[in-house]
Amino acid sequence: MEFHSYGGCMTNIYDRLAKKSLRTGSVSDAEILSVLKSPNRDLLLLLHSSYAVRSKYFGNKVRIHILNNVRSGNCQEDCRYCGQSGASGNRETAHPMKEQASLLEAADHAAKAGAYRYCMAFSGRKIPGPDLEFAADTVRKIRLKHPALRLCVSAGFLDTQSAKLLKKAGVDRYNHNLNTSGNRYKAICTTHTYDDRLKTLKTAVSAGLGVCSGIIIGLGESSKDIVRMCRDLAEVKAKSVPVNFFIPVKGHRIEKPGRLSPEVCLKILCAFRFALPAAEIRAAAGREHHLRSLQALSLYPANSLFANGYLTAGGDDIESTKQMIEDAGFTAESAE
Ligand code: SF4
Repeated sequence: MEFHSYGGCMTNIYDRLAKKSLRTGSVSDAEILSVLKSPNRDLLLLLHSSYAVRSKYFGNKVRIHILNNVRSGNCQEDCRYCGQSGASGNRETAHPMKEQASLLEAADHAAKAGAYRYCMAFSGRKIPGPDLEFAADTVRKIRLKHPALRLCVSAGFLDTQSAKLLKKAGVDRYNHNLNTSGNRYKAICTTHTYDDRLKTLKTAVSAGLGVCSGIIIGLGESSKDIVRMCRDLAEVKAKSVPVNFFIPVKGHRIEKPGRLSPEVCLKILCAFRFALPAAEIRAAAGREHHLRSLQALSLYPANSLFANGYLTAGGDDIESTKQMIEDAGFTAESAE
């Protein structure tokens, strides 16, 4: 560990990164890499420094997001990590579009339970017109009852007209994950390209939608790939970055999933916090599986979590998530 004296105080290299991130809005590629490769014995110093950045933008608050998988499975795309791809052969978690009444009821529960955001996901390459109208109508109805509940939609590739319709209905974020770095995108999917995904993000931004775009760690990426993801997400002005840790769901076709330890996951969350200081960084899918007993430490770099599970995998419920937040000295930021 390298220490320097600043005005009589001993300051470590991670404090310097925090100051640089706060001052300039980012850190260099080499600095992101140094965080990813930092020794485990530095972890508490690293978390402490990343907290300085997180607390500047989000204080001690934690936003809980609730996902609703509105239509699951039977997707014509071949994303290898996904159990909803038709190529996965997994039919267990597939279901047709849910009834609107159940989506409204789930939004009601999310708001009453203290969620900050409710996210509706539709499987498939691109949402067909009637389904888009259905999504917009559902959003309008939720907006009427819960005007403060933030709403996100995830429905594949987006054209300008569809983006504007969702925006007008009251969606404030559109989710479309980059998942991995551009130079290894073909290793995880062959039916569309990284540029296709970037294009949808740009379309969402130009329609006035905030962009939620995340990654999946554990698909065989290198540290340099993670640095590239930080850069690309900063470039598309992602307001929200779900950092997912790969869950080996039924039907996945990732040949050599990466070995993730809680320490590795925490360092990655810190790297994203330094690289995108003002973004909502989420310890997303797989936090329970990979962070295990160190989950609460993720709140030092991250200011957001999912509760009640993921698209095709279960997870901690909202009550135990709120308890963890409170036990760690943070506060759940309710929408209402
Ligand atoms: S990640 Fe999305 S686009 Fe890819 S297979 Fe799964 S549902 Fe389809």
